[in-house]
Amino acid sequence: MSNHNLYAQIAARFPAKPEDKLFARLPDGRRYSYGDVDRVSAQFANLVRALGAMPGDRVAVQVEKSIEALMLYLGVVRAGCVFLPLNTGYPPAEVAYFLGDAKPALFICSPEKREALAPVARDAGARLETLGVYRTPRDDESVEAIAGTIAAMGLEAAKSFQTHENDGSDLAAILYTSGTTGRSKGAMLSHDNLASNSITLAEYWRFTPDDVLIHALPIFHTHGLFVATNVALFANASIILLQKFDAAEVLRWMPEATSMMGVPTFYTRLLDETGLTKDVASGMRLFVSGSAPLLAETHRAWTERTGHKILERYGMTETNMNTSNPYDGERRPGTVGFALPGVLLRIVDPETGTPVKKGEIGMIEVKGPNVFSGYWQMPEKTASEFRTDGFFITGDLAREDEDGYVHIVGRGKDLIITGGFNVYPKEVEGHIDDMDGVNESAVIGVPHRDFGEAVVAIVVPEKGASPDPDAIGAALREKLAAFKCPKKIFIVDELPRNTMGKVQKNLLRDQYKGIFG
Ligand code: AMP
Repeated sequence: MSNHNLYAQIAARFPAKPEDKLFARLPDGRRYSYGDVDRVSAQFANLVRALGAMPGDRVAVQVEKSIEALMLYLGVVRAGCVFLPLNTGYPPAEVAYFLGDAKPALFICSPEKREALAPVARDAGARLETLGVYRTPRDDESVEAIAGTIAAMGLEAAKSFQTHENDGSDLAAILYTSGTTGRSKGAMLSHDNLASNSITLAEYWRFTPDDVLIHALPIFHTHGLFVATNVALFANASIILLQKFDAAEVLRWMPEATSMMGVPTFYTRLLDETGLTKDVASGMRLFVSGSAPLLAETHRAWTERTGHKILERYGMTETNMNTSNPYDGERRPGTVGFALPGVLLRIVDPETGTPVKKGEIGMIEVKGPNVFSGYWQMPEKTASEFRTDGFFITGDLAREDEDGYVHIVGRGKDLIITGGFNVYPKEVEGHIDDMDGVNESAVIGVPHRDFGEAVVAIVVPEKGASPDPDAIGAALREKLAAFKCPKKIFIVDELPRNTMGKVQKNLLRDQYKGIFG
């Protein structure tokens, strides 16, 4: 293969008749063929260049999810520029940090945010343009007002573009990590990082041109942007592009789909719907979950209701996907399966880097074509997170069971050290979650004068239940060593979660940090 540009790698596998093959269906009735993908991404590539972004330049994007936003992503990559998507929830002050750090040549935001972001773009030296979510304009509206400046300009742009020649190691994207501790870091992802992982996943999960994937994930994050979109493209599959996750809307589309990728919250919300039945899911062949731990209980409840076993996988922004439960064979609830083909995974003692014995808890380290090349302009941080033999230290603690399935027990930074003893929150949470009347829980460490940290549990009851914290505490003492038992238990309505469904333990630690005086 001569050109390793991600788009060139996708296009090399395009269907023989791109016009006849559907890529995307939109709820408003619009349809995009693979031919449209090629033409519209070419228009965006032409535009990006015309607006002054040259190969290697960053193009930052903070826009609502739309088919145009996906085509912009492909266009930026085609032009040899570096795609930098930003969470739509970031306020201008946070956007200022990202633009100041990445110094993009071009910044594209939603039309509604233009005014607020203009000074931010100016300070960072980036040209500012807009992209909105298209709808048919009323008589008194311009396309530009709704769809944004680049959509309006794009209508005029040429529909073909010679995809830029890239090496596999050239940067295709920078994705900032969510940065729950310290500064958010820009993970540098190459064309080959992205292509290799998507090709592996498409094969491993058996995606074919007959697949229709429900795409309800955000597209500023690795899951929706790369895993869902690129896997579909490499497989010549189709997507049903939903602007956001809405359980009723997903159920409405499910009879027309074959597959869905989601975060655990998708599955718990769908389980709350009476419309989730074996019948509605009868045409589906695959449900994938990732980005946060899927409770074993959710896995079982899903199987009971739909007859399908959710396939859980594990990955992160820096590494793309690392492990997956098998397509054939047992999908073991509460585990993330095995290392994907081509990915080397080891579980080590975090201090020494030597592999732990099977069954013992240690840090996950990975190496492979999927693993990023480092953090943008942070050589020291990068160096400290790679071993000398090239393995990346993920920060995730896990153990392997007797059959080699990987069980994630939590982030290293969530480990609680109380009176010198290590407590893995997942173990305590597992026992609490199994109790009657409990929906879910989060166990955290909070500062304590005697113990350094004290174990605290925050518990969400099942609908209509009111579990007694003292009874939970007493039941835990029967099951766990005293040092693992929470010193305090709080009952709350819900846990704070980010858009990917991850429980934000940093917020909980902040909220409860003063409770021991
Ligand atoms: P992000 O970079 O936002 O995708 O976050 C990556 C982190 O999400 C990983 O380092 C894990 O801590 C967590 N994660 C992703 N998938 C899973 C999973 N299936 N089970 C448990 N944690 C997961």
